[in-house]
Amino acid sequence: MFYYYQIRRHHHKTEAVPYVTCPVCHTDGYLHMSILQKYRWQLGPIAPSGKYAIAWCEHCGNYIPKVKWTDAMDQAFRKMKQGLKTPLRLYRGLVVYPLVIAAVVGIALLVFKVKDHKQQGNQALVKDAILHPHQGDIFQITHTDGTNTYYTYFKVASTRGDSVYFYPSKVRVTDVKNMKAWDNIPTAGSDYETRPIGFSISAAKESDMFTYATQPVQYGMVWSLYRDGTLYKKY
Ligand SMILES: [Zn+2]
Repeated sequence: MFYYYQIRRHHHKTEAVPYVTCPVCHTDGYLHMSILQKYRWQLGPIAPSGKYAIAWCEHCGNYIPKVKWTDAMDQAFRKMKQGLKTPLRLYRGLVVYPLVIAAVVGIALLVFKVKDHKQQGNQALVKDAILHPHQGDIFQITHTDGTNTYYTYFKVASTRGDSVYFYPSKVRVTDVKNMKAWDNIPTAGSDYETRPIGFSISAAKESDMFTYATQPVQYGMVWSLYRDGTLYKKY
């Protein structure tokens, strides 16, 4: 049920483009185009695709397959598409989704781990590490793009003002049954990308989530800190 989703379509607009000749029946004056956008519905709309058009001719009654599109049709599509924005509501599911993922991952972790008295102390420590990251700190994180989630690591490259720069790890755990492997913190330089990604510390302060400046928005949620050879788990 959790992975169930539907593909839905958002209709932007339909217009007559009578100045474009139908490539099937070679008649002017009857071509129409609709601009559409697909998106995934999973607990709400997420992951909108690029905008695309379908075209049909009222004279011969044909839908014009993309392979038959003429340059004039491509031009008409580009013109129609100008200024069309992806409606914000197509991202609405992203607000709900990370919370659901956090809950599910949290439950999965609790099943595997026995709570101990250090937990509260670790939570404060991890919180403080997010606010004041040390170079070389490694965060255990769950990464989600709103559709897929995997378990990985961010290593602190540097900080500057409100920005923290991470080397994302190439090591990714995708199987929840394999959570033990996630605790084998990779420390070799070759386990990490060489190009750092920057995040806002103040934005991560409340949620413990590092938010990517991408569309659709992606998140890295912090679960633990590996510092000076010790793993401090929040849960
Ligand atoms: Zn036609």
